[in-house]
Amino acid sequence: ARDEVVRRVHSLVRLVPDYPQPGVLFRDITPLLADASAFADVVTTMAAPVPGPVDLVAGMEARGFLLAAPIATALGAGLVPVRKAGKLPGPIASEAYSLEYGEAAIEIQPFTIPAGARVLVVDDVLATGGTAAATVRLLRSCGAEVVGLSFLVELAGLDGRQHLDGLHIDSVVTVD
Ligand code: AMP
Repeated sequence: ARDEVVRRVHSLVRLVPDYPQPGVLFRDITPLLADASAFADVVTTMAAPVPGPVDLVAGMEARGFLLAAPIATALGAGLVPVRKAGKLPGPIASEAYSLEYGEAAIEIQPFTIPAGARVLVVDDVLATGGTAAATVRLLRSCGAEVVGLSFLVELAGLDGRQHLDGLHIDSVVTVD
């Protein structure tokens, strides 16, 4: 069954060369989201890997939201949107991280995270791992326990795992 989900992800995630910038091979998950059974199977697969209970699922703006919300309900967990700077009304907690050119920041509302909450982090693509690592730092700074990370596609060649030392990481498909 898992093999079949992997096969469907490979066939339904569209490869777009040079988007949004020259040299980037963009993984477009939109065709997968539009396929009812593939979407449902991916949500079930991504909700499965973590041992123990999950209190909250943290989804990264913007495509992470689309996966994190149904995964949260599948797990009986709540949802925490991890947003780009300036989108959430305060009080907020913020974490800066570096991009290829310059810096960015992500934000959450810490009052939505009970002390010791067990949180699963969800995004569509693990690339360099910078976004995921910043999300882990942000959640920990709010007193959460990050129990794992679940990605649809992992770009292994970028070695994002090196920034996520010791964390439980699961990806539905891994590509070079
Ligand atoms: P990174 O911080 O480098 O791991 O980048 C992760 C974020 O950028 C995720 O939120 C992804 O949605 C997005 N991203 C990075 N590379 C790609 C790609 N090749 N295709 C689609 N999304 C990507």
